[in-house]
Amino acid sequence: MNLSNENIIHVKKGDVEYLQFRELLKYGDKLQHAYSLKPLQFSDKNEHSPANYKKICETLNIDSNKIIKSAQQHTDVVKDIKEYTTESFEFVDGFITNKKNIPLVTKYADCTPIILYDKMKNVIGNVHSGWRGTLQRISVKAVKMMEEKYNCDPADIIVCIGPCIKQCHFQVEEDFIAKFNQEFGNVEKYYKTGKVIEGKQKYYFDTTNLIIDYLTEIGINRANIFDSNICSVCNVANMSSYRAEKEKADRNMNIVMLK
Ligand SMILES: [Zn+2]
Repeated sequence: MNLSNENIIHVKKGDVEYLQFRELLKYGDKLQHAYSLKPLQFSDKNEHSPANYKKICETLNIDSNKIIKSAQQHTDVVKDIKEYTTESFEFVDGFITNKKNIPLVTKYADCTPIILYDKMKNVIGNVHSGWRGTLQRISVKAVKMMEEKYNCDPADIIVCIGPCIKQCHFQVEEDFIAKFNQEFGNVEKYYKTGKVIEGKQKYYFDTTNLIIDYLTEIGINRANIFDSNICSVCNVANMSSYRAEKEKADRNMNIVMLK
């Protein structure tokens, strides 16, 4: 199946498959990026991960030895990477940098991948926003950090939202709705009411549009936000999904690098 759409191109080179945003490809002389697809997988416990990084990075002309990544703990912590480091981050879920040739990597099985690119100041960000990160507005924190550290103007920042669990599959319960209502107020427009299953009311929540709304509230131009419109659960044949595969789920990776 080819996942290309108006915002996304599905690239196949042998058994290396990945998605790229048409908008970011316009700046292909400035940055490289990709969201990996099966069969290559990237969880920390997968013994093939190092070889898979090497393989996809060779295709993308990226030095896999320079990758910056984290164990990711659903925090709202964003790190500014000023130079390559061998430090292995754990309680970090987002990175920004204005340095060239430092590939920033985040990993996924349903959570929301967000690439930020300030095309004027040439600064990138790579943010892992699961529902906890979305609740904590980690993408807003990354944009604020780009403003503080590199004098970025949100109006110049391109936001690319990769494949994630979309409203069609993101079934939640009352406790989830209560948390989001408490943080954001009036979240009714972000969910649909589903069935009552085993005595529990189910809802279907749209995290993508919540993220889009709060990013536009801090000055991101709506026309600069590009959604992949791809649900990881619907497309489990092409990508890892925790909802679909449970504990067997491996990880996709999202990579972005200035060049
Ligand atoms: Zn779906």
